[in-house]
Amino acid sequence: MSAHPKRTIHILQLEDDTDDAELTCRALRDAGLSIDVQLVCNEADYRARLQQPGLVDIVLSDFSLPDYDGLSALILRSTLVPEVPFIFVTGALGEERAVEMLHIGASDYVLKGNLQRLPAAVMRALAEADEVRIRDAMQKQLKAERQLLSAVLDTSGALIVLVDQAGRIVRMNPAATAPLSAAQREADEQYFDTLFAAEDERNVVSEHLAHLCRLPLGMPVSWRATVNGRLVLWSAARLSDQAETPGFAVMSGLDITAQEEAEQQAYYLRHFDSASGLPNRALLLLRMRQPTQPVGERMALIMIGLSRLQEIRDSLGDEAANHLLREVSRRLMAGPLAGDYLAKVGDDSFALLCAAPEESALNAPLQAMLTQLHEPYMLDGRFFFLAANLGVAFCETGAPPEETLQAATMAQHQAAQQQNENYRFYQPLLSDEARSRLELEGELHAALAVDDQLFLDYQPQVALHSGQIVGLEALIRWRHPRLGRLGPMRFVPLAESCGLIAALGDKALHMACQQAVSWQNSGLPPVTVAVNLSAVQWSQPDLADTIRQALAQSGLAPAWLELELTESATMHNPVATLATMQALRDMGVQLSIDDFGTGFCNLSYLKRFPVDKLKIDQSFVRDITTQPDDLVISQLVVAMGHLLHLSVVAEGVETEGQLALLAEAGCDIIQGYYFSRPVSPQACTSMLAADRRVPPAACG
Ligand code: C2E
Ligand code: MG
Ligand code: MG
Repeated sequence: MSAHPKRTIHILQLEDDTDDAELTCRALRDAGLSIDVQLVCNEADYRARLQQPGLVDIVLSDFSLPDYDGLSALILRSTLVPEVPFIFVTGALGEERAVEMLHIGASDYVLKGNLQRLPAAVMRALAEADEVRIRDAMQKQLKAERQLLSAVLDTSGALIVLVDQAGRIVRMNPAATAPLSAAQREADEQYFDTLFAAEDERNVVSEHLAHLCRLPLGMPVSWRATVNGRLVLWSAARLSDQAETPGFAVMSGLDITAQEEAEQQAYYLRHFDSASGLPNRALLLLRMRQPTQPVGERMALIMIGLSRLQEIRDSLGDEAANHLLREVSRRLMAGPLAGDYLAKVGDDSFALLCAAPEESALNAPLQAMLTQLHEPYMLDGRFFFLAANLGVAFCETGAPPEETLQAATMAQHQAAQQQNENYRFYQPLLSDEARSRLELEGELHAALAVDDQLFLDYQPQVALHSGQIVGLEALIRWRHPRLGRLGPMRFVPLAESCGLIAALGDKALHMACQQAVSWQNSGLPPVTVAVNLSAVQWSQPDLADTIRQALAQSGLAPAWLELELTESATMHNPVATLATMQALRDMGVQLSIDDFGTGFCNLSYLKRFPVDKLKIDQSFVRDITTQPDDLVISQLVVAMGHLLHLSVVAEGVETEGQLALLAEAGCDIIQGYYFSRPVSPQACTSMLAADRRVPPAACG
């Protein structure tokens, strides 16, 4: 209720004398106040009015009444509506009594003989009451806000600590006490840096707090510190000097132990090999970038490659292979170069960084390392042997570590290719060739992803009994953007050694099947299409699925697909090859052995292989007219093929003379420049459409 004079003031007047009451009202009205007066003269009426909420702005009361008394009225007001001001309007009231009444809670007293003072007294009492009301409301609001803030602090997951200028803790929330020990919590004087930093971090934390004093307000300071093993990220801000808190600065901390652990785990995964626990390639390179050896000491990087591990992985599973890898790393760590930095840099390769002044110092330890690695390995009660090859490159000052790693890898690959040589030092002179090989490898990768670089030419195969084309061998070529047209010998072996052969083989297979279907759909007489598969493809367990997929996708009937494998490929892993061949044969696909006569095929296997054709290698055909031995070999191959019920194809037939001898030997089919070079699919279409044949006279 405002004390504004224009507002009507609701007065409850306790007075038995109506004249006096009238005089009182007049005094107020004369002063310009708008009033509404309820006159009562006994306790019951007085109480009833007081109890009606909001009806009374002020009580004016006589001190002595016939049926009631002013003191009781004052006490009742204090009990029921303490916020409503109470003024005695009375005859003589001794000074002492008046002060007593004021103490008990009266706002004022005005003598009936001095009523001109009443309006001001009423206005002042109302203004004071208003003030009290506003103050109470504000205090209530403040209290509610405090409670809210406390609730936030109490339930917040953040550690919140209020400190004074000396770094003493003034207050902290439950989250902040959580990582503390009972003794720490109960300590009499608690200093922030002693509670919330490990011993060796305290100086730094005090330094941060001191720094905070010098910083402008609102500039936070952050640091990380350990609280009883928990890692906390703190941010501190100074409080303004006017803030009515006993604190000087507030610290809020986040427990980042879990994030830190996750980060460490991620770091581990990025930098260590999970199977062996050794540093990986990335960490090795980092280490090489930050050398720790004494200045001037020369370092060498030894690349250790293991062959046969993939076979073990394929046949016995990852766990067995990992077990062997762990044993290899154990031997390396215990070996002659123990104590140096060992890393696992590839699926089947390790790298060891060691101090070595020159090549000669390494010969003995490398030899010893090989001997150790070649010792038998025990797995599930059986012995296994691994072949290891080592390549060494020296870390030249200023050379990027990647280059050294690449050089050691090249040397190791060279060692793997040489027979009876299990370690090799990197020879910079050879690097040009190796470098361009690496470049070509990258380009082949890219070529496999596009449509226009790798394509097939087809070379006709002609049956001698009819002179007609009965098959077309698909031969892959690469239209290289920089080097022009490349033949398969330039990139198939590369694809085999760098793991791209499966993709390359798949591409050739799909293109050939698609082409065969397209010829058949255009109404040409159907012929077999032969595709070359590399030895690596033959040892893949899912080869049959790959073939099945290519046939299904193109819609080619299996009988029109022939797969060629070289004689040496059959001996790579004869047992597995036999199983794959059987699966393919069951599917209805034809099989032939390519380059026969060059690969020392075990005849007992040849008998068991479910093949349809033998292809006499062109090296025998080339000199067949001049070298009697070659003629004999060719005759023998034909005879043996026929004994095993196989068709015999002669490759590389260039002349009529060669053709005549092969026809005489009983060869069934010929393929070579004599009839046609490998040509584009369009050129084949023309030949098939024209039914081009070998003249019957030439077939003998
Ligand atoms: P290959 O399967 O024995 O193919 C026959 C090779 O002899 C072809 O060489 C062919 O062009 C060549 N040739 C044919 N007739 C004559 C002739 O009368 N005289 C002479 N001097 N050569 C003749 P090309 O195309 O260079 O292929 C070489 C080898 O590359 C093939 O030998 C085959 O092993 C391999 N190859 C070709 N395409 C593929 C493929 O798609 N995948 C795989 N893995 N290897 C392939
Ligand atoms: Mg072939
Ligand atoms: Mg061949």
